Amino acid sequence: MTPQNSTGLDAEVMVVGGGLAGLIGSIQLAQAGLTVILFEKTVFPKHKVCGEYISNEVRPILEKIGLYPNQVTPIKIDELLLSAPSGNSLRTQLPLGGFGISRYAIDLALYELAIESGVKVYTQTSINAVHYNTSKDQFTLSTRKGQVFQGRVVLGSFGKRSMLDRTLDRGWFKYEAPYIGIKYHLKLDFPSNLVSLHNFWGGYAGLSKVEDGSVNFCYLISKSVFQRYNDIKSVEREVLSKNPFLKSAIEQGEPLENFPLSISNISFRPKSLIQDHILMAGDAAGLISPLAGNGMAMAIHAADIAAKHIQLYMQHKITRSEMEQNYWQEWNTTFRWRLWAGRQLQKLFGQTFVSEFSMRALQKAPSLVPLIIRQTHGKYDKALLSSASFGNGRHG
Ligand SMILES: Cc1cc2nc3c(=O)[nH]c(=O)nc-3n(C[C@H](O)[C@H](O)[C@H](O)COP(=O)(O)OP(=O)(O)OC[C@H]3O[C@@H](n4cnc5c(N)ncnc54)[C@H](O)[C@@H]3O)c2cc1C
Repeated sequence: MTPQNSTGLDAEVMVVGGGLAGLIGSIQLAQAGLTVILFEKTVFPKHKVCGEYISNEVRPILEKIGLYPNQVTPIKIDELLLSAPSGNSLRTQLPLGGFGISRYAIDLALYELAIESGVKVYTQTSINAVHYNTSKDQFTLSTRKGQVFQGRVVLGSFGKRSMLDRTLDRGWFKYEAPYIGIKYHLKLDFPSNLVSLHNFWGGYAGLSKVEDGSVNFCYLISKSVFQRYNDIKSVEREVLSKNPFLKSAIEQGEPLENFPLSISNISFRPKSLIQDHILMAGDAAGLISPLAGNGMAMAIHAADIAAKHIQLYMQHKITRSEMEQNYWQEWNTTFRWRLWAGRQLQKLFGQTFVSEFSMRALQKAPSLVPLIIRQTHGKYDKALLSSASFGNGRHG
């Protein structure tokens, strides 16, 4: 690898992982005039296991970088339907609301914006080692194919589980990761403005529309329950279908080509935010329960915070240690409570009996629902929002 400039570095900032956190972080840093390399082990575009409901909290960030609303046409979502395994349910307005957009569409739009903003993107490039050299105060990254890159700062945005977690010897990695995620896009008649969350024995499933009018059907299930049936069709028939809402979606929905997709080894354990001087963002910093519907917003928001502190460091306004401390401080103030609340929500709705009980309690006091949702979501500054309105999808 030939170094790019007189400093001998390939880039000022090197970003590992091109999901939402990595793309947003690299776009912002490149737009601020820094040289940025982004490494992504797979390709763009591609489908990912995700519920694809994004909280409005991050609309100002998407507007700031120039993505939203011009480049994408999401579906506006402002109502929530929640059901217990028996089908006992309640429907309520979402306090902040959000939008439905596929990862295929939003990751692709961000990737194109990254290229346009000057980010050098290496796809199909997996980073398998990161080394911080104290005397030179810089990083060396090595790819699986043996290439080596040098830079000043590393943003770790490699998602919920990566080979790098093992290489970096991250504490949470040695524990069991007990959940499996499955996702479809379905052809199904479903209200555009609704996100529905349905509990079942061993997990929960979400349904909401994305930009092309198809319906995202995504569920998280405990490995131990899944293994009793061991294939997707049986588990959907024998477990999910006990909830009448899910039975109807499973029977009436027509899966689109390329689905279902699945991932395993999902863990919600706390993670280190800064390790070996790498600033972690998105799921690499901590995964919130998907029940909270806020992981994507957290990834976008964390990358925004990290980009701000990295810029100050690169402008020599703060030291490396101040950059790390300030990022740690702001990240914890913004997200620590949400992650904790998400874990409590997971406990509340992850078990059949507790979930039925919780549903009855919430039906008696429905005003508690927006209060609970607020615990796992941030706020947005309305003044930052443009007057541009949401689309309702190309076909939706
Ligand atoms: C079942 C399920 C449903 C969900 N539903 C929702 C929802 O409805 N709303 C919501 O807001 N959130 C939801 N989430 C959470 C959301 O998907 C994540 O929080 C979000 O994707 C995090 O983005 P990220 O950028 O951190 O990671 P990712 O989007 O996973 O990106 C990480 C990237 O890093 C790459 N990578 C990994 N290792 C390396 C390496 N060594 N070198 C180079 N590249 C590497 C990967 O290929 C990947 O592209 C859900 C999660 C699950 C599991």
